[in-house]
Parts: sequence; structure tokens; C-alpha cells
Amino acid sequence: MSARLKHNVLTNEALAELLALAAEKARMPLQKPLRRASRKAFLWPDEVAVLLQQNRSLTELPGVGPSLDRIIRAWIENPPAIAAPPPVRQGFLTLPQARTMLAKNRANAIGPRGDLQMHTQWSDGSGTIEEMARAAALRGYEYIAITDHSKGLKIAGGIDEQQLQAQGEEIDHVNAKLKAEGVRLQVLRSIELNLDTTGRGDMEPRALERLDLVLGCFHSALRKKEDQTGRYIAALRNPDIQILGHPRGRVYNYRVGLSADWEEVFAVAAELDKAVEIDGYPDRQDLSPDLVRLAKKAGCRISLGTDAHDPLQLRSMDYSLASALSAGIPRQRILNFMTAQELKNWAGGIRERSAA
Ligand SMILES: [Zn+2]
Repeated sequence: MSARLKHNVLTNEALAELLALAAEKARMPLQKPLRRASRKAFLWPDEVAVLLQQNRSLTELPGVGPSLDRIIRAWIENPPAIAAPPPVRQGFLTLPQARTMLAKNRANAIGPRGDLQMHTQWSDGSGTIEEMARAAALRGYEYIAITDHSKGLKIAGGIDEQQLQAQGEEIDHVNAKLKAEGVRLQVLRSIELNLDTTGRGDMEPRALERLDLVLGCFHSALRKKEDQTGRYIAALRNPDIQILGHPRGRVYNYRVGLSADWEEVFAVAAELDKAVEIDGYPDRQDLSPDLVRLAKKAGCRISLGTDAHDPLQLRSMDYSLASALSAGIPRQRILNFMTAQELKNWAGGIRERSAA
């Protein structure tokens, strides 16, 4: 009896799917909260079943109010049959899953030295550079890369060359202040360079040369059905970038992302010694786990970035790291295990080779 009960217990992953399915059938007032809770379920820190065993209210979970509390309790008591989620909702880790994977992986004993994607008030983030840096220092990091959006992405408050220069001065100032206080964290200058469908960026290459690292990302034509291998290879061959960010462009329950001959894409990344990112933003988790395995096979470098838009979101590193380590990516292939100096040397080497 108890074994059977255990087998039938719904995980947060299953609840997320039930919430998404319920949203599709629901009428207006409940539709939005159901859809939202489906997304938020990936952030819930504990399994709902455990919470209920402890007689806690589900309303302490993000996205859950009294009516969803009742609906979810009813599912747990009487689990509905549930099919595999459609591709747009497949391959996303819940927080308890990510943490279990990390606990199993002893390589986690030493955590990453830094986080390589985050946004500040300079574009669409809500924290200052200093706030992000201090939050990162509390996590024990040695560095962070500030990757605000570039000028072409107006909707996300993208910055131009002049603003990027001014931001660099602010970073110098923050670094000097932290150093004077004995805080061992370095803020690296970077950017999330907006790429067009031919792999070209929207900033003067000379402005990018002064940065420690450049992350290139697609933000347009992300619903194309045709094979996009060509655009990925062009992006990787763009001499101004070293990391390809949130490669697939997927968003949970919203957009399935692009398709490509990923083996070929990752082979080119490996050949050029460039990195592909595992964006840990819970709705993105991009590369998805299946692609992380292909990237591992190709042997290309991996970059972990939370895509945090506020200091609290730096904790999304759990999703990125769990995904990388459970796929067996060796730590020597993960940029975040390099020192800041090693990272700069790596980026410098790529620049020299592409200039030659
Ligand atoms: Zn982006």
C-alpha cells in the first residue's frame, strides 16, 4: 500500500504539467493564474507532496493562492493520469530535481567561481552593478560578468557604445570599492550582443574589443520551423563573440525554440574553442538537457549563466550547474570553473586567432 502510494505521488514536474493542461481548458478568470503557476512550479523549493505531509499551506509557494491550493491538494489526493508533456514543456528541471542532481554529483563540492550572464538597471535588470556584485560575493563567487543587452534590443533597454563605455567606468569604480573593502570579487565587462539572423552583432566591434567577454544571442525570428544550422554557424564564426547564449531560444510553455543540426553546430563551437551556454533562467534552461549531452559529445566548452535580472535570481545557477554536471560535462570544459585570469586569457586567445 505505502509503496503504491509513493509511486503515485505527484512531483512538482507533474503538477506543472497538470497546471498547464488545466490552463488550456479553464475559462477566463482561472486561466492566467493556472498558466502562471505552471511556470512558477519550477521555482518551488520543496516538493508539494512533502509540504502537505508537513501540514503546510501551499499558498506559501509562488503563484499559488487559495483556489489553486484546493485544486493542487485534490490532485495530490487523487492523482490524475498524465501523459508526457509536449515539446514546448519538455526538459525543464524543477528546483528539487536540480538540487537532488547536485547533491548526487560530488563535483559540486567545489562550486563554480562565477556567473557569466546577468542584467542590471543599465538594461532590463532591477539591480545595480554593485548590488549584483555584492550578492555574488555572498555566494562565494570570484567574478561575475555583467551582460546587459546591446542597443538593437530596444524592448529590453539595450545600451549603445557610449553607455557601454560609461558602464565600464562604473564597473571600474565598483571593482575598486570592493577591493578596498577586501571583497574578493571581480566584475567583468561583458555584453549580451544581439545577433541578427545572419549572425552579425549590432555594436561597433571596437567597443566590444574592450570587454573581457562577449556573449552573443539571437532574439528575433525564433519561431522559424526550418533548419537554422546556418545561422548558428555564422554566429559562432562571428569574430566578436566567444559565447553563444541561450542557443535554442526556447521559453517554457511559450516557444519551443529553433532547430538545427546541433552536432554540426557544436562541432564548429569545439573547433573554434568557443562556448555554448546553459542559461539557468528557470523558464529557459537553454541548452536543454538533450542538447547538453550532444555538446558534451562534441567536446565544446560550456558557459553557465543565470540570466539573473535581480540579485535573488543568481540562485538559478542550480539549474545550469545540475544540467551540466548530470550530463557529465567535465569541469575543465566549463568556463565558470576557470579563474578570472584564465577566462580573460581564453577570450584573448580566441580574439587573436580570429584576427589572424
Ligand atoms: Zn537574451
